[in-house]
Amino acid sequence: TIAVTGASGQLGHLVVDSLIARGVAPSSIVAIARTTAKAADLAERGVDVRHGDYDQPDTLDAALAGVDRLVLVSASEVGKRVAQHAAVIAAAERAGVGRIVYTSLLRADATSNPLAPEHAATEQALAASPIPATVLRNSWYLENYTGQIPTYAATGTVLGATAGATIAAASRADYAEAAAAAALAEDAGGTYELAGTRFTLDDLAAAVAAATGTPVAHSDVSVEQLTATFQEVGMDAGTAGFWAAVDASIAKGELDTDSDALERLIGRPATSLAEAVAAAQSH
Ligand code: NDP
Repeated sequence: TIAVTGASGQLGHLVVDSLIARGVAPSSIVAIARTTAKAADLAERGVDVRHGDYDQPDTLDAALAGVDRLVLVSASEVGKRVAQHAAVIAAAERAGVGRIVYTSLLRADATSNPLAPEHAATEQALAASPIPATVLRNSWYLENYTGQIPTYAATGTVLGATAGATIAAASRADYAEAAAAAALAEDAGGTYELAGTRFTLDDLAAAVAAATGTPVAHSDVSVEQLTATFQEVGMDAGTAGFWAAVDASIAKGELDTDSDALERLIGRPATSLAEAVAAAQSH
């Protein structure tokens, strides 16, 4: 039995889809969700949907009963995640889970990306656990950018402070397939740096312009200017600084890699930038 956390969320749901597409019987899949109603369609397909809340460890014992392999999709509330992930790992130990596949962040242990410390701490907790672990260090989701296409088109601008650096990214569906493949593989222990297509924000602006027929240009500003712009649109200073620091990290090349581990895991080319832009347009 393979369990997937965050199954009510976008990535977790796609991991369940990928497991089914790879031939796993829905009845052998446990979809763990904090909000089980958001996984109702999975229950209809025969998946065993169970309630599990990282903040309520007793729910995790019931959710993990009988589970052999666990895909732990990283949680979404920044600042709370180390304790939440530790609660899942402890419950997995109590339940006798045989392997954990965790979705981390590219270069989690060696990047200035402000999202990384919680992932690095979780990787350390996994290393300290007797349960063997597969760490999938996911780079950026293409959807982080393609979700902003309406804004890019309306403003004519892709705004960033990346200093023209290259970004390696992949779609949620690519990463989900990788997680499913890693969960199904017999020898997939270890740490993988996962990313696909490589592009700059100039390339992104050109791809959006081509797909929308609207002039869109990349505007590269300083980290300080980006922080100020984020505050002008309503972010508090801390949040604005956090997200601007992400671009500062990108500017250092920390979200770029030539690793082909993703394509090797999924056994096909990763989604290209043009494909991702087109897919977002068709929604
Ligand atoms: P979503 O927000 O769509 O899904 C997050 C999932 O986590 C939801 O199922 C949510 O449950 C669940 N969750 C949150 N808190 C708890 C909790 N206390 N107990 C149980 N479940 C909880 O995110 P995505 O699917 O898009 O992304 C998955 C993860 O990937 C994110 O959580 C984040 O860690 C990371 N991420 C990485 C990005 C990247 O570019 N590399 C970009 C965005 C996210 P519920 O439905 O109840 O809210």
